[in-house]
Amino acid sequence: MTHSNADFLNKQEPMTRHCSRCGCRIPISSPYDQCRECMKKELFPKVKDFINENEYVNEMILAEAMGIDKTIIHEWISEGHLEYRDNRLH
Ligand SMILES: [Zn+2]
Repeated sequence: MTHSNADFLNKQEPMTRHCSRCGCRIPISSPYDQCRECMKKELFPKVKDFINENEYVNEMILAEAMGIDKTIIHEWISEGHLEYRDNRLH
């Protein structure tokens, strides 16, 4: 019967996490399995559809509907990728 400590050592929690899509490092504390860039790429078409389908949309509604951080929506808007349908929104 052989016995080694190796198995025990291998059970340590990894201290890094990687994006499930591109493999880049993401913060351990991140609630998502993808990095921000991959999330943005994946979600962008859905967000656009959501805005097209819903007359009244604001950042809060979007963030909640998509389950994403409001700062991501801010980035899209400031990068000019996203605009709300009209100016009646607050
Ligand atoms: Zn990624």
